[in-house]
Amino acid sequence: MSLFLKDATFVNWETLEFKKSNLKVNQGANGKVEFIETIPLKTRADQIINCQGKFVTKSFGNAHHHIYSVLSRGMPAPKTTPENFYEILKYVWWNLDKKLDIAMIEASALYAAMESLKSGVTFVIDHHSSPFAIEGSLETIAGAFEFLGVSHLLCYEISDRDGMQTGVEGFTQTEHYLKSSQGLVGLHASFTLSDHSLRRAALLVEKFKSGVHIHVAEDQYDQDHCKINYKKTVVDRLNDFGFLNSSKTILAHCLHLSKSEKKLINESPAWVVENIESNLNNNVGCFNAKGLGSQIMLGTDGMHSDMLRSAQYAYFTGQLTNNVNMADIYTRFRNVHHYIQNNGFAGDCENNLVILDYPSPTEMNSENFLGHFIYGFNSKNVEHVISKGEIVVKDRKLVNMNEEDILGFAREMGNKLWKKLRE
Ligand SMILES: [Zn+2]
Repeated sequence: MSLFLKDATFVNWETLEFKKSNLKVNQGANGKVEFIETIPLKTRADQIINCQGKFVTKSFGNAHHHIYSVLSRGMPAPKTTPENFYEILKYVWWNLDKKLDIAMIEASALYAAMESLKSGVTFVIDHHSSPFAIEGSLETIAGAFEFLGVSHLLCYEISDRDGMQTGVEGFTQTEHYLKSSQGLVGLHASFTLSDHSLRRAALLVEKFKSGVHIHVAEDQYDQDHCKINYKKTVVDRLNDFGFLNSSKTILAHCLHLSKSEKKLINESPAWVVENIESNLNNNVGCFNAKGLGSQIMLGTDGMHSDMLRSAQYAYFTGQLTNNVNMADIYTRFRNVHHYIQNNGFAGDCENNLVILDYPSPTEMNSENFLGHFIYGFNSKNVEHVISKGEIVVKDRKLVNMNEEDILGFAREMGNKLWKKLRE
């Protein structure tokens, strides 16, 4: 069954060209979007979406998310107040992720998928951690995402920080998942991974022709640890294991890098993800793209699922660091599509669309689109969302599941998690 978008203003996400037309949106992963003169007379009313005065464009993607942090909103304060980045991980996140069970992961994934879709995001690249509920965790996230209509590229965050057993289970889950699904080899960060584990990860990358998804120099601590223990920089260490050789590799953060490390990344096929709100929240410094080349995407790092908000933060904070312009930020915002498509991953389809109800006080056209993108758009403008040709958000409401049911389940699981955190 096709959908028809009546009287739409279509904005080409690459050229920013505007075209007023009726659109026919075909279903399925290979469904095309066609400009048509007239909608066939005998079309069921529920197949037609009135887009008069609305803007239709490609939906969005998130290049670095952590759905496991969803139930942290408003959680009890840690027993010890963290004073630096390492302590934030130790007392907050590594305490929380150890308490997650499969039901909590499912609630987190359902909520994150709902929040993503309602923000116009139909593709999420997630980096997951649940050291005592590893087996089946990625399948649970994939199931929740697919049920609501979110395409995905998942990985399990392998780390040695919780001992040998969880490290081994991380590898087992990764290998099991990659046998049947598209995904990446997830690694926490250089400072929680031994050479032995990185060697093992390199074998998995080779076996599945995959790439790694890892946090890189998010804080100076990562570099200091690497220099003391391995007598080299973080990027040199990762490069020595061949991780920079893959165009599938995702390096999240990349804040505390030397010129030569940036050059190495710039000359490699690997991708970088900027997560500026998380950087500000953790007080670890600000992302600066200078020297890193053009393969930069944007992510939310688990803070939320709203990519328009992340793009706007990246623009405003970028004024302080290296005078970014609006086109730079729009390119980073949209680079996720190039990453997915150039690497042959599925799910970022032509018929993934967002319909924006954007009543601007000024005219919007091809020439000034970026000004509206930075200063005007927000997730409240997302009225309908189409994923693989099927409507997944209609009139700002989720289609495939009752929103109250997701919220109720998430709150129940949140209370269960918080009880464990207080113990
Ligand atoms: Zn992260």
